[in-house]
Amino acid sequence: MKYVTAKTAGLLACHACGRVETRIPSATAQHCTRCGAVLHSRNPDSLSRTCALLIAAALLYIPANLLPVMHTSSLLGSEDDTIMSGVVYFWTSGSWPLAVIVFIASILVPMLKLSVLALLTITAQRRSRWRPDQRTTLYRMVELIGRWSMLDVFVVTLTVALVRFKSLAVITAGPGAIAFGSVVILTMIASMQFDPRLIWDNVEGSTQKPQDLKHD
Ligand SMILES: [Zn+2]
Repeated sequence: MKYVTAKTAGLLACHACGRVETRIPSATAQHCTRCGAVLHSRNPDSLSRTCALLIAAALLYIPANLLPVMHTSSLLGSEDDTIMSGVVYFWTSGSWPLAVIVFIASILVPMLKLSVLALLTITAQRRSRWRPDQRTTLYRMVELIGRWSMLDVFVVTLTVALVRFKSLAVITAGPGAIAFGSVVILTMIASMQFDPRLIWDNVEGSTQKPQDLKHD
C-alpha cells in the first residue's frame, strides 16, 4: 500500500494563492502561472533554518535564566530578580500557585518547546520513520502553544512586579528580559520554519504494514 502525496504525484501547491501546478522536472525555479510566486514542494531549507534558530534560542536560554529579568528600586532599596529567584520568592512567601504558574510559563514551557522542536528536526534530518503520528501531534502542540508564547513574558514581569512590590517602586526590565523575549521569538520562528510534511516524507511509500498507515 503506497500513499500518494502531491510531491510523489509531481504536483506543486502555490504557498501564496493555493493553486496546484504540475511540476516541470527540467525547471530549476518554477513560478505559479496564476500569481507568479516561486513554487516549492517543501519549505526551502526547512531543517537548516529551524536548526539555526533553535541553536540561537538554546544559547539565549542561558542568559535568560541567569541574568536578572527585572530591576526594582524603591524607598526600601533596590533588587535584581532572575526568573528563578521570582519563583523561589513566591514559593517561600506562600503564594505557591503563582510560583507554579511562573515556573510553567517561563521555565518549563520554553524548555519543552525547544526540546520538541530539536527532536522533530533531528528525526526529520535522519529520515526517521519513528512514530510519525505522535511526532505530528507534538508539532501541533508546539504550534498551539506558540500562539500563547508572549504570555510567558507578561506572566513573569507583571506578576512579579504586582505581587512583590505593592508600594511605589520603579521597575525596569533587566538584560535577562531581552534574552528571554528573544528565546520566545526565535522559538516561534523556528516552529514556523519547520515543515511538518518532512515527518511523513520517509513514511509514505515505505514498506510499513497497511494497518500502520491508517491516516490520510
Ligand atoms: Zn500562486
